Amino acid sequence: VDDTKTALVTGANKGIGRAIAQGLGEIGFTVAVGARDDTRREEAVGRLRAGGVDAFGVALDVTCDDSVAAAAAAVERRTGRLDVLVNNAGIAGRTDGGAQDPTTLDLDVVRTVLDTNVFGVVRVTNAMLPLLSRAASPRIVNMSSNMGSLTLRTGPVMAAYAPSKSMLNSVMAQYARRLADTHVIVNAACPGYVATDFTGFNAPRTPEQGAAIAIRLATLPDDGPRGGFFDDAGIVPW
Ligand code: NDP
Repeated sequence: VDDTKTALVTGANKGIGRAIAQGLGEIGFTVAVGARDDTRREEAVGRLRAGGVDAFGVALDVTCDDSVAAAAAAVERRTGRLDVLVNNAGIAGRTDGGAQDPTTLDLDVVRTVLDTNVFGVVRVTNAMLPLLSRAASPRIVNMSSNMGSLTLRTGPVMAAYAPSKSMLNSVMAQYARRLADTHVIVNAACPGYVATDFTGFNAPRTPEQGAAIAIRLATLPDDGPRGGFFDDAGIVPW
């Protein structure tokens, strides 16, 4: 019996997502590298394989229903089930011209950010749940941000991005309640402030440090926790 576990990481071609893929691969997962761009995806798969990871690419644009459905079919063909889903893909959205100043907010930016950071997670999660349900100990991890915390009120004013992560946490809590009586465990992770394209590589933490909490939540024991928002230090108030 092949008991190798499979993890799908969205936005795994770079940054924190690629570090999550590498980390899960190092502890024995087969990793499905979800990425929308063919060239960037194959480059990342090559790099992960060179790093000793059993990785394969899955074309995946989280904003596209057809792409998400095709990705679920591709994972099913390849492994028949999914043990871990890390919803990592996310965007900050444009900030030029006061686009994310609430007093001059560009609603098209809000729509774009929500489509990726929130609706994308719902699309991918719902497409993958049938595959996750076939696993013995399925785990879902959503990459959130402490900028979404209404309690901490941290980071710059960004009236599309920050609320997208508040909503993502809220949606995560709904999934956790809905799936409370199942073996599917859902949580959210905050990676800290990480040097990636997202931050212009101008941040103190490495992608590997940012990935650590997601990997921990992806490998939780069967007794949880469930429905929480966590960083390296523990529960993040939100
Ligand atoms: P990057 O910009 O380095 O990587 C983002 C990844 O998401 C890329 O692989 C990108 O793909 C992918 N992506 C974006 N849109 C889509 C889409 N529509 N379909 C599929 N993939 C998509 O960012 P980080 O690694 O820094 O961020 C990863 C996550 O962590 C995000 O959710 C972010 O909000 C969160 N986060 C990051 C923090 C930080 O300090 N860096 C802090 C708090 C949270 P492509 O290359 O094709 O654009």
